Amino acid sequence: MRLSELKIGEKAIVVKVLGRGAFRKRIIEMGFVRGQEVVAELNAPMRDPIKFKIMDYEVSLRRSEANLIEVVTEQETASVTPPTSHGTTTDEYTPAHAAEIKGKIINIALVGNPNCGKTSLFNVASGANEHVGNYSGVTVDAKAGHFDYKGYRINIYDLPGTYSLSTYTPEELYVRRYLNNEMPDIVVNVVVASNIERNLFLTTELIDMDYSMVIALNMYDELEKSGTTLDYKLLGDMIGVPMIPTVSRTGKGIEELFDTVIEVYERRNKSVRHVHVNHGPVIESAIADLKEQLRQSKTALQFSPRYLALKMLEGDKEIISLLSDNKDFDKWVATAEKSRKEVEETLQEDIEQAIANEKYGFISGALQETMTQGKEDARNVTRVIDSLVTNRVVGIPIFIFIMFLMFEATFVLGAYPMSWIEDGVAAISSWLYNIMPAGPLKDMLINGILGGVGGVIVFLPNILILYLFISLMEDSGYMARAAFIMDRAMHKIGLHGKSFIPLVMGFGCNVPAIMATRTIESRSSRLITILINPFISCSARLPIYILFIGTFFPRHVGWAFLILYILGITIAFATAKLLRKFHFKEDETPFVMELPPYRIPTFKATCRHMWNKAEQYLRKMGGIILVASIIVWALSYYPRPDIEGELTAEQTTEQQANSYMGQIGRAVAPVLEPLGFNWKVTIALISGTAAKELVISTLGVLYAEGDESPETLSHKLTQVNPSTGSPDFTPLIAASFLIFVSLYIPCIASITAVSRETGNWKWGAFAVIYNTLVAWICAFAVFQIGSLFT
Ligand code: GDP
Ligand code: MG
Repeated sequence: MRLSELKIGEKAIVVKVLGRGAFRKRIIEMGFVRGQEVVAELNAPMRDPIKFKIMDYEVSLRRSEANLIEVVTEQETASVTPPTSHGTTTDEYTPAHAAEIKGKIINIALVGNPNCGKTSLFNVASGANEHVGNYSGVTVDAKAGHFDYKGYRINIYDLPGTYSLSTYTPEELYVRRYLNNEMPDIVVNVVVASNIERNLFLTTELIDMDYSMVIALNMYDELEKSGTTLDYKLLGDMIGVPMIPTVSRTGKGIEELFDTVIEVYERRNKSVRHVHVNHGPVIESAIADLKEQLRQSKTALQFSPRYLALKMLEGDKEIISLLSDNKDFDKWVATAEKSRKEVEETLQEDIEQAIANEKYGFISGALQETMTQGKEDARNVTRVIDSLVTNRVVGIPIFIFIMFLMFEATFVLGAYPMSWIEDGVAAISSWLYNIMPAGPLKDMLINGILGGVGGVIVFLPNILILYLFISLMEDSGYMARAAFIMDRAMHKIGLHGKSFIPLVMGFGCNVPAIMATRTIESRSSRLITILINPFISCSARLPIYILFIGTFFPRHVGWAFLILYILGITIAFATAKLLRKFHFKEDETPFVMELPPYRIPTFKATCRHMWNKAEQYLRKMGGIILVASIIVWALSYYPRPDIEGELTAEQTTEQQANSYMGQIGRAVAPVLEPLGFNWKVTIALISGTAAKELVISTLGVLYAEGDESPETLSHKLTQVNPSTGSPDFTPLIAASFLIFVSLYIPCIASITAVSRETGNWKWGAFAVIYNTLVAWICAFAVFQIGSLFT
């Protein structure tokens, strides 16, 4: 518990002092160190100050100060367990023991730029298995893990990547609030060694905030490879933060890193000191004036007056609102305003820029003394490749070619394992057909489960191949280039290149893609990117495309795929343009688009990526698709007509049309008739709202009924329907169907994601209505115009 909660007369033992900087130092100097006994002498609820007795003398602390001291009381002692108990100590703990044990819990937060390897570090340290991708936006929430190390329990948090700690993006705000509210004991700042100048910018901001910190100099392997040398020991001493080289991909240096974390935590590390980043004479004198005023009123002890002054000059909204209920607030604002004007006039640039420039000056000064560039700059290779793939003329054709290759490979390579699985399912089905007695159970197994789940599982290889391509693009760094070359095109629709990555991710699944929009600075751009994402064909729609394109357009596979995807993209872009024009007025935040160096993706990472997807897919198969298949089967199997024995083909057709499913389908069918769809197709489309794969499994169930020869669904779709005398699908109906499926209502998971990420269910409702309407209009146009020619 915290010292502020201690009741009068109660005793407790100090565990640790949270918070940071000069304030923390002062408290420690008063004697609040681990193991000391403290007694509350005066503690009126909600009243300041609180009086304590420690080391035989009295001290009084403000409530906010006492709240930063963690203590353990006699009662709490019972519930304390050591991190690695060896089963030997069964005796009662004394409070001093308990404080000792609790003091061995270290909370660590990982802070760094996107792509610096935080998640990789988190994974090697905690042994967890997280998604690792070479683009910004993978880590959108803090992930927690823990492990025991040398007698300490280490709690580790993987925070979203940020370039700075201003409050422009949700990530920046999130990280800052996390650090302020959770007060981790140690901040591990992960820095890319091979891009150190850029990465140290965030470090300077952390230094301003005066955290207990250790720097993980990650991707040290790349620095070494480039021939550059860095005296990281000296650099660490210069900036007052110990630096440890690491390669988080392999785990090299991780032990040294955590040894250092423990040293810093136990206040044994010699490099640690608080340096003031020098912002040059002009800004420093502005800081000094304001700092003096702030110091006099002793407010907001969490932050040093220097830091508060700097942030006020920058116009930091969070800090300003934090100070706003102080009686001198207006005076400070006036001073800050005046100083800002002076600085901007003197330096001829706006103050934020000026401060950033000074920080870069600090960094390059520090590097000048400690780093010697290698002759062979690793990024030269990058530059050569970049000049090609981001070239104005050939960049986009290369991108389109890669996309085409991706879809072509998905179909062509996937066809082999697909036919093996298909044969397997058919073999099981005919085996069951021969050994089982007729009845509902047999029907359910063959037509319900094998027809439904079996119809979808055959597409697993295709989906794996698609994800292989997406992960290769992400991990290699190509995805960032794709965003770069698309930047100009994206500007035409009122978005920027950064919106492009979530769109490409949408080819896999729209749900994580919608979550990945969190890195987009501007709110309106973010909302638009979220809303257009469901038009990007996700992999769940892939089985439908493969089946129908393979069946009806076997000679134009690659093109048919490309057309469907391009249609989705076109509609998405048109929607973005409309939203920009009619709903969201322009608000572009300029931003840096980083081009991380190319990396050869590791075999292990790529496999892990693919396996994660396969696992999700199989789980979906065993869950929602299995259940839905059985429901669809039951609804179309019942009610049964009063006929003994097996039904003839005509009787089956009649039974199906009269089943519960047939009734639902016929009720809704008139709406979809102008698109060329019969009631079976209608039902499939309805069940597809739960998950798009269900379209296929439902068709599988509906077209399996009464069929005695276990043929593939593809074959059945082209058969003549005895009740109408013509096939249910012609190439034209198939085209209309494909277009409808590619555009209509997002699945439930996507609708939820849209509502949650926009913070308003109305946008979810908008997606449902708008997308379905657009799909209907497009399919209607294709079917009606096509009908004129056939
Ligand atoms: P995050 O965005 O900070 O969480 O970064 P990730 O952990 O997702 O890593 C981004 C990319 O850098 C991945 O492709 C990793 O495999 C790669 N990576 C991470 N650490 C290292 C390292 O120490 N050396 C090298 N060469 N690559 C690394
Ligand atoms: Mg990450």
